[in-house]
Amino acid sequence: MKKKILITPKSFFRAKHIADEIFSQYQLEIVENNTGKTLTKEQMMELCQDIDGIIVGVDPMDEDVLRNAKKLKAISKYGVGLDNIDLKVAEELGIKIRRAEGTNNRSVAELTIGLFFAISRSIPKATYDVKEGGWDRTLGTELFGKTVGIIGFGAIGREVAKMAYGLNMKILAYDPYFDDEELAKSMNVTMTGINEILENADFVTLHLPLNEETNKMINKETLGKMKKTAYLINTARGELVDEDALYDALKSGIIAGAAQDVFSQEPPKKDHKLLTLDNFILTPHMGAYTREATERMVETSVKNLMEMLF
Ligand code: NAD
Repeated sequence: MKKKILITPKSFFRAKHIADEIFSQYQLEIVENNTGKTLTKEQMMELCQDIDGIIVGVDPMDEDVLRNAKKLKAISKYGVGLDNIDLKVAEELGIKIRRAEGTNNRSVAELTIGLFFAISRSIPKATYDVKEGGWDRTLGTELFGKTVGIIGFGAIGREVAKMAYGLNMKILAYDPYFDDEELAKSMNVTMTGINEILENADFVTLHLPLNEETNKMINKETLGKMKKTAYLINTARGELVDEDALYDALKSGIIAGAAQDVFSQEPPKKDHKLLTLDNFILTPHMGAYTREATERMVETSVKNLMEMLF
């Protein structure tokens, strides 16, 4: 029997030829998000009401959207973060969920290391200043010999550790759900507590999911434990950081700088106070947006959905 599916992620359509080859083996009615934007709750309410399955990006799938989607059997996440989906309600309704694991960890980790360099050498500011006619330099810091503190030692955190080791950095990691000491040791990573990370790391980098437990885990108190010379890197989710507290910490020299690929409201308001600071860098949630990761995410998310539906 024909199944109706919705595809929402913008970058999905860049590698649609991969999807079409798999789709051609099934009886499907396909609805595509051709707005070029993340869908709003209202659009999701309407588009999801009669679908059997969905390949979803960061579009909202809260309780209202899920309860209104009476036929929905399967959610295939185009990516790994499930924070836009109400997992409790999905479970209650018997909706299956799968993530596109192992598809974008290398890309996100590479951007993360890129942000280490960008913030510690003020690369975006320097480029901007030169284009504005300037030729002033900002004193930078080397990565060599510095300590990186990885919070969340999953697929991305581990990839960051591999690259940091190649840069001759000392690596600490905190992850209360990780218990493979042997693996950590073989990767030259010391598993430790969150306070040890905050107090000792020169680069604190976030690679954990957003949920009730982790919301605003970087706040006035935790920022206050970091070194004055330390940088915060966040390529996970904006809501992990209390942005008011981060602004105060960056403005008053509690920490040296922050670089994020994510923000609590994406895109942020143009006049957001954090965007006025030279020691704050923000990229537009592009961690997984590479040719290679996009192709892998399309293939895996399509296969996952077909396996759940047929
Ligand atoms: P993952 O599931 O492989 O790893 C997450 C790790 O965080 C797990 O090992 C888990 O045990 C750990 N964790 C959970 N709660 C924790 C806590 N309270 N403290 C410390 N660690 C905790 O996921 P991943 O592929 O490594 O992705 C990590 C996050 O990166 C995702 O949740 C997603 O939000 C984000 N992400 C961002 C982009 C981007 O484009 N910027 C792309 C992909 C993923």
